[in-house]
Amino acid sequence: MKRLVLLGSTGSVGRQTLEVVSDFPERFRLVALTAASNWKALAEQARRFRPRVVVILREDLYRSLREALPSEIEVLSGERALSEVAAHPEADLVVSAIVGLAGLTPTLSALSAGKTVALANKEALVTGGELVKATARRTRARLLPVDSEHSAIFQALKGHRRRAVARILLTASGGPFRKRPAESFPKITPEEALQHPRWRMGAKITVDSATLMNKGLEVIEAHFLFDFPYERIEVLIHPESIVHSLVEFRDGSLLAQLSLPDMRLPIAYALAYPERLPLPYPRLSLTEIGQLTFEPPDPQRFPCLSLAYEAGRRGGFWPVALNAANEVAVEAFLNRRLRFDQIPRLIEETLAHLSFSGKPGSLEEILEADRETRKMAQSLIKERICSR
Ligand code: NAD
Ligand code: MG
Repeated sequence: MKRLVLLGSTGSVGRQTLEVVSDFPERFRLVALTAASNWKALAEQARRFRPRVVVILREDLYRSLREALPSEIEVLSGERALSEVAAHPEADLVVSAIVGLAGLTPTLSALSAGKTVALANKEALVTGGELVKATARRTRARLLPVDSEHSAIFQALKGHRRRAVARILLTASGGPFRKRPAESFPKITPEEALQHPRWRMGAKITVDSATLMNKGLEVIEAHFLFDFPYERIEVLIHPESIVHSLVEFRDGSLLAQLSLPDMRLPIAYALAYPERLPLPYPRLSLTEIGQLTFEPPDPQRFPCLSLAYEAGRRGGFWPVALNAANEVAVEAFLNRRLRFDQIPRLIEETLAHLSFSGKPGSLEEILEADRETRKMAQSLIKERICSR
């Protein structure tokens, strides 16, 4: 029986994690569930899965949640409580499925306590890469990827020596605008960007998939997770989303992991690791699919990918700034304060206005660089709106 803390239980990854848990009740038990603001969904999950404790980020919602639950379930609220439950003494594994930089602090808290972390929150590695890894090394905590591409690479690398690996090939669906001409990008609405052709995900990652920033963040995530230099991480557009990524070995062999695009697979792989569960979900039929296609990404229409490579190569605080500017840009796009084609421009301009030196040595330094970048990005949006 593995005892789990699920951070971000009301989100897309969170809900799919609960599906896996409910399909294997004899294997998993929940110690804690957490959410930002959807207290009704959180209460419903808590009544069904009976965790010891639930945390709601927003303190003004504490009372509603407390009143909705029986007294034997402990209810907490606020940021600090998130980090506390991430280190809960009864937990064996922490699923980190909060979106954005907000996931970094609780992820570090879990690793500091030596917990195995199933990591969906890629922003934690993008912003805190070295710190996250140093923390895991110090406590000998294990980091297991949940992101489908990284799970694929993790599986393909198994049993191989590092020096046998030539390259990592990350696949991307290409998103909803793969074939859309650049001239029409200014007209793209949030509704269109939220229609992902292959995956049902939270709003932020869905927009990131449409700009290809998601793949850029995943390149940085792969760099830290697998200790690979950027020049040996490549991106490949694969619209069917069946091949979830590949590893190329020295001798030219490619190993890939294939399945239907269903997040429950990489989630279950991380939850049950090192075992594989007999999952009852639909299976891939290669004859039904018939054909798999691949093409190179188009850097002209999707500049976010190059921006991410550049920030990754510069290292230090630049991935933190890239992530912060992107979070601000995506939110502004969803609120119709920024056009789709302005997302990469805002990120580029924000970074051009900032200067950083050295490397982040602590969580506080990362959070400070994040705040500084957000302020810059917000003020550039304001200027732009005023000068329209
Ligand atoms: P989502 O928006 O559906 O859910 C986010 C969850 O985090 C919710 O439970 C929400 O309440 C919580 N949350 C949001 N802001 C918070 C804050 N400031 N503090 C604490 N909790 C907060 O997102 P998602 O699609 O489930 O993605 C979660 C993470 O997993 C992201 O980092 C994403 O990139 C990654 N990921 C998602 C998928 C997917 O299929 N959805 C696939 C791969 C990776
Ligand atoms: Mg992914």
